[in-house]
Amino acid sequence: MPGGEGASVAPCYPLFRIRSRAHSRFRDSRIAAPAAAFALLLALVGATPAEERASISWKGETHPIGTLGGREFVVSDAARALGLTVAADAQTGVLTITGGGHQILLGPGTAQVPVDRRIVPISGPARLVSGALYAPADFFEKVLFPLAGASGTYDAGKKLWTLVPAGPPPLAIEIAVVHVAPTTQVVFRLSGPAKTATATSERSFQVRFSDTKIDPPFPEKRFDDPLVASVRFAGDLATIDFREPGLAARAYPLTSPDRLVVEIGRQATLPSAPSGTSGPSAPPVEPAGPATGTGVAPLTIVVDPGHGGGETGAIGPGGLQEKEATLEIGKRIAATLPRTLACRAVLTRDSDIQLPLDDRTSIANHEKADLFLSIHANSSRSASAQGSETYYLSLEASDKLAQEVASRENSANGNGGAHPELAAGTGNPDLDFILWDLAQSAHLKESSELAEAIQVELNAVSDTANRGIKQAPFRVLVGATMPAVLVEVAFISNADEEKRLRSAEFQQAVADAVARAVARFYSRRLPAAIRSTPSPKPS
Ligand SMILES: [Zn+2]
Repeated sequence: MPGGEGASVAPCYPLFRIRSRAHSRFRDSRIAAPAAAFALLLALVGATPAEERASISWKGETHPIGTLGGREFVVSDAARALGLTVAADAQTGVLTITGGGHQILLGPGTAQVPVDRRIVPISGPARLVSGALYAPADFFEKVLFPLAGASGTYDAGKKLWTLVPAGPPPLAIEIAVVHVAPTTQVVFRLSGPAKTATATSERSFQVRFSDTKIDPPFPEKRFDDPLVASVRFAGDLATIDFREPGLAARAYPLTSPDRLVVEIGRQATLPSAPSGTSGPSAPPVEPAGPATGTGVAPLTIVVDPGHGGGETGAIGPGGLQEKEATLEIGKRIAATLPRTLACRAVLTRDSDIQLPLDDRTSIANHEKADLFLSIHANSSRSASAQGSETYYLSLEASDKLAQEVASRENSANGNGGAHPELAAGTGNPDLDFILWDLAQSAHLKESSELAEAIQVELNAVSDTANRGIKQAPFRVLVGATMPAVLVEVAFISNADEEKRLRSAEFQQAVADAVARAVARFYSRRLPAAIRSTPSPKPS
């Protein structure tokens, strides 16, 4: 089951209430509209604003700031006093505040403030009073002042904010806990890069943030997860409490955005985990992603023959089962790849066994694979549908047919539907968001380039019109921490293509095409790994 607290990651867009049109015309009229409109607004709200004046002292100058009782303050006054740029959306009343390469969005009703790509909760919503947007004091302390490199305290007696230059901002952390059987991933989403040291004990995993102050999201939170009971923060230390003693854990960083991923499992499911008693001085943090630098480190490519065992996949009119075709083609791809590329090819299965979708990407993650290729055969209600299609992951299917393919492949879950909520279009957007964001967002561009390269080669093999590369929410690609594509090599539902899928010639032609495409994909990225020059790109 998914981690029950998965939804705690906030979406990356502002949450503000849209009120009536009549009001919206006067949104932030203090900034945008002339005095006449301001007067009209006062007439509409039927009260004279009891605005008081307070002051901000910053860099030797004192600026006025409107306040309501010293608890809420006028956002645009403070932003301008700090030299930040303020732009107001006349329709929504949302202020966009920028400075130092950072951006804050704040509108009427916003209590979860988008700051760059993070969400910072404040104690109460911003609100529009007499045409000016007010926010509670902690918005200024936690969000606005740090944007200008300042920290400030408010003296209610003097009605004065005194600001001083702040040290480096503390590292903001968000936590997501996601269980993808057989492991649980605890994701520390960080506001910037951070040095960490990690250690495992019998009952917990510790992450120490050694070179920066941290701004934890909570002191302690319990999680409804099979392996993780809770996450706690104290000082510079985060502790993940195991639900049972003796679990294994390993951590690896990801960038764009900066994250630390801690993967927790039972010993057998985490073969590469550090020993359970490593001291705090032994950080098992490993770099993620493809090997770089020397250029000759062999690549690891995981080839995933779709379906298997009792899960046959699609069946052709002549009786060929998808699981048979994908295994033959997958084996040939694994055998062919090392001829074009210095690589190690790993099959997720090399026999007719049933393998849950989640396990397939888990294998790739554990192997620290550089690429993940999932091999399938397409089927269509239209018997004449033909050709190959290459997909990479998206939460949105690029068209309706892509959605159908994804639904079919997703429902072919070896767990017998143990994770029905993860199938496409069944709505658990928060969980999907986390998984997708965690694993594939950093690789989307590479995945699309790889898909494109494979599709170009397969078009030449199939000699058919380009069916194109597509995006769809394939469950088997979710959670892959490397570029990943799913290839539907041909339509098993088409009698002619079913025959081709049976033939060794076609199987090998597909394997050669995929190997050429992968070599082409690496020809610029890692030229030293290329063993044979790929044939010229077919026109
Ligand atoms: Zn399939």
